Amino acid sequence: MTATGAGAGKSAAATVRATVYGYPRQGPRRELKKAVEGYWQGRVSADALRRTAAELRSANWRQLADTGIDEVPTGDFSYYDHVLDTTVMVGAIPQRHRDAVAADPLDGYFAMARGTQDAAPLEMTKWFDTNYHYLVPELGPGTVFTTDSAKQVGELREALSLGHTPRPVLVGPVTYLLLAKPAPGVAAGFEPLTLLDRLLPVYAEVLADLHAAGAAWVQFDEPALVQDRTPAELNAAERAYRELGALADRPKLLVASYFDRLGEALPVLARTPVDGLALDFTGAAAAQLDDLAAVGGLPGKRLVAGVVNGRNIWVNDLEESLFTLGTLLGLAGHVDVAASCSLLHVPLDAAAEHDIDPQILRWLAFARQKTTEVVTLARGLGRGTETIAAQLAANRADLASRAASPITRVPAVRARAAAVTDRDTHRSEPYDRRAAAQRAQLSLPLLPTTTIGSFPQTGDLRTARADLRAGRIDTVTYEERIKAEIQEVISFQEKAGLDVLVHGEPERNDMVQYFAEQLSGYLATRYGWVQSYGTRYVRPPILAGDLARPEPMTVRWTTYAQSLTGRPVKGMLTGPVTMLAWSFVRDDQPLADTARQVALALRDEVNDLEAAGTSVIQVDEPALRESLPLRADTRPAYLAWATEAFRLTTGGVRPDTQIHTHMCYAEFGDILPAIEDLDADVISLEAARSHMQIAGELAAAGYSREAGPGVYDIHSPRVPDVDEAAALLRKGLAALPPERLWVNPDCGLKTRGWAEVRASLENLVTAARTVRATL
Ligand code: GLN
Ligand code: ZN
Repeated sequence: MTATGAGAGKSAAATVRATVYGYPRQGPRRELKKAVEGYWQGRVSADALRRTAAELRSANWRQLADTGIDEVPTGDFSYYDHVLDTTVMVGAIPQRHRDAVAADPLDGYFAMARGTQDAAPLEMTKWFDTNYHYLVPELGPGTVFTTDSAKQVGELREALSLGHTPRPVLVGPVTYLLLAKPAPGVAAGFEPLTLLDRLLPVYAEVLADLHAAGAAWVQFDEPALVQDRTPAELNAAERAYRELGALADRPKLLVASYFDRLGEALPVLARTPVDGLALDFTGAAAAQLDDLAAVGGLPGKRLVAGVVNGRNIWVNDLEESLFTLGTLLGLAGHVDVAASCSLLHVPLDAAAEHDIDPQILRWLAFARQKTTEVVTLARGLGRGTETIAAQLAANRADLASRAASPITRVPAVRARAAAVTDRDTHRSEPYDRRAAAQRAQLSLPLLPTTTIGSFPQTGDLRTARADLRAGRIDTVTYEERIKAEIQEVISFQEKAGLDVLVHGEPERNDMVQYFAEQLSGYLATRYGWVQSYGTRYVRPPILAGDLARPEPMTVRWTTYAQSLTGRPVKGMLTGPVTMLAWSFVRDDQPLADTARQVALALRDEVNDLEAAGTSVIQVDEPALRESLPLRADTRPAYLAWATEAFRLTTGGVRPDTQIHTHMCYAEFGDILPAIEDLDADVISLEAARSHMQIAGELAAAGYSREAGPGVYDIHSPRVPDVDEAAALLRKGLAALPPERLWVNPDCGLKTRGWAEVRASLENLVTAARTVRATL
């Protein structure tokens, strides 16, 4: 298959442009993180921070331009978060931060991001279905927008002065409003989108300023339009782009969508007078081709085709992309090539990974490599595939090497996954009978107390791990250190009077990485940092091949902890869906298949824990909700394989072994039926900040098992007092009977200090006893 675009492309010689929508901000050695944190600590001056930022921007643009990117993004850079930058641009500073921002814009900016002694930060939440978190704008009927285009204009000028062709990138007005929430004190029913008419003049002014400063094109990111939208919301989008399109004094307008297909929003945007649309043609969004044909294409408009996946770390199939691009040539006035979304979501440079076998490294493409792919595709489309023959041959060889690799396909793993039956994904007894068996086995009091797993990860523990890695201490010394910690955690829990104990997870660096390091088929990176929020970066492991568990991963720590106490110690594992959500996943098989392999590996661990005498096993799935697809029509299929993977993990244990699960960070409304489908015996959930509301929601949804809605908000150093925890428990009892209510914190305690944890858990136990005595 040679690209159908080759012939047609020749006539459009060299006019196909290569571009990206955004680039990793941190720098090759996370220079931005170091500078920003240095500034917070007073070690780095504001000027030095600004200089570092400008150097990083200019290095990124140079790298993009040197690779052959024709239009570089500007304004996508951020000290903390691009949605917060938009909040500054439109002047929507929350009342409580106004003085700080007026006194010093930079300090005020960080105050909004991180909070101060007197003013809470903006709430943080996930950017669509990525692991990037943005700061949620707070708006109300009284919000007055004002224009501050300084950052956008400044970065545009910077790029122009360096000789680049820049395209400023802004969060679009519709997405900005749809991501906002009612400000504190504003009625919950307030819809920020009603502020559109007030907001559009600000965007018009920014457009005029960017035009005056020399922008030919400006990009408005509208990823919110790939979600299911009401007719009123689609109407608002149409109105916004009719109005902005009708402005006389403006650059050309590119409206960018990504993470899925535009769906109903495509015809809406297509009929507005914007000059171009950017569409995602990767993954599920590939169906967009049909949508595009159905609306008659985009005659006279620029189409920027996102064919290189900006969310994964795999090399692109260049021939397949060229085929897609060739099909698009007839469907738009002009076609350019891009990555499917900002490259913010992938690490910077695979070439830095010297520890990865070169035969595997050739399968990987991080931001730098993806940029090269975009340039190659633009050249192939514009000048003919013969001009990229060498790249196509090399790409074919890389893909073939991956497909044929013994890492990619392990026959024993595949055979086992293929042989999974319905019986494997179901417990041997229905819940009621299990509950009775577990009651007899565990003999717990009413309102049993427990924790979610981790205890404080002290600096001392982290130092021990770093020492082990650096060879300063040996494995034996390290393990003695971990055992000592487990002893302390167990003895504290016994003294405090908790009913179901945990070993405290001191051996875990991270709840996904710890398992990834012990499972074959997973790859780790050394510099593969991706921004999670602000200055926090994570290095997601890569699910590269067929997955297996060569040896037990947690059994010795759990059994060691159990040997120290007569009370039940809960085994603790990360569930299959969360393993997938916080890793880079394979793109060469359905997610459901990968989930099944992970589930089988974890099932072995669950069964081994049981065989070693563990009677309570918790399988954490905090990411079940966040992995829910953006569009409702694809959700049932996701929930079916996700819940099946959980049941496959836990389905092999005896009826009297109690399976717990845990979830946090989420509004659970959308997945309440799925929680029942997990068929776990007990679920612990985050609830303290929402005052136990979830207990009522569970009951209303007909949830029939045991639940522990959190009564201790672990996101804050605050110690809940006994009365407060008892009041929350009584609220819980109004929704769930005492035989089905557990008492626990919202989440793990790893980020907290020992002093608060001690006091809080003692109060929690006292509260449980107090309420128990009244039953
Ligand atoms: N067991 C894990 C812990 O306690 C759960 C963490 C999570 O839900 N994010 O740390
Ligand atoms: Zn949690």
